[in-house]
Amino acid sequence: MARIGFIGLGNMGLPMALNLIKAGHQVEGVDLNPASIEKLKAAGGSNAEFAKVAASRCDVVVTMLPAGKHVREVYLGAGGIVENANPGTLLIDCSTIDVETAREVAAAAEARGLLMLDAPVSGGVGGAAGGTLTFMVGGSAQAFTRAQTILDKMGKTIVHAGGPGNGQAAKICNNMILGISMIAVSEAFVLAEKLGLDHQKLFDISSKSSGQCWSMTAYCPVPGPVATSPANRDYQAGFTAAMMLKDLRLAQAAAKAAGAKTELGADAERIYSAYASSGEAERDFSGIIRFIRG
Ligand code: NAD
Repeated sequence: MARIGFIGLGNMGLPMALNLIKAGHQVEGVDLNPASIEKLKAAGGSNAEFAKVAASRCDVVVTMLPAGKHVREVYLGAGGIVENANPGTLLIDCSTIDVETAREVAAAAEARGLLMLDAPVSGGVGGAAGGTLTFMVGGSAQAFTRAQTILDKMGKTIVHAGGPGNGQAAKICNNMILGISMIAVSEAFVLAEKLGLDHQKLFDISSKSSGQCWSMTAYCPVPGPVATSPANRDYQAGFTAAMMLKDLRLAQAAAKAAGAKTELGADAERIYSAYASSGEAERDFSGIIRFIRG
């Protein structure tokens, strides 16, 4: 069993780390929040205090941090992981960040003889707790092969998307589709209301027709048709509007840098930005339907 340093024990990181402990791994946690460390310890983990300490003692380091600047600081900063890990250590960054930072950190890690993967996830807090996350992985085949027995304790679907940064590329492309499709489905339900068409009738027809998509059939933005969707609990998050906006911004920054034309992605960013600024940033992203309804 591996000795794993886990840095970033927030909403996602803590349940992921707990699944590694359950699988018999030795987990040393690092977080700015002492309450998260206490929960890790209660489950059989330990505290490493600083990222550099965990890196110097562990065979594998997993990070689950808020954004690119935190990843840069924890890996490349003074006393960071890259400087302190022993050659051959496997580094897995599961945070959702920009492609450029992911590639820069991977290059610095590889230059020091470390194996580095970007492995952002889809599946939310429920997937993290249940060990059913989807991992989109970028990095070398050697690093990917070694990571399998760690990732499969936290997730169900693990896809090697290509070289460094390609996991992040897959994540932001996927979430751009999700943001656009949630707006499309919401607009359709609002139009149906104005035309006197019942929510359930539109669902029954569209979920079996060419309008079918995940935003309709798994996460329907109106209460009723899909029992598990946040619409049935006043749009309590699941996946917040703020997080959707973060991912849409990452997609737009990447599109600009790569010269890709993503007009609907730009519209989705604008609409989610207005929704989040209306005081709903912490509401589920499917609550956008209330904003569209006006
Ligand atoms: P979170 O804010 O709950 O957790 C982040 C944790 O990192 C916090 O506990 C914070 O104290 C810790 N942290 C920050 N800087 C640190 C540092 N320098 N050293 C040690 N710890 C530090 O965020 P989250 O919801 O767990 O999300 C983490 C990542 O996962 C984000 O990149 C997010 O976009 C992505 N993600 C989240 C979800 C979701 O539904 N929450 C779904 C998919 C992907």
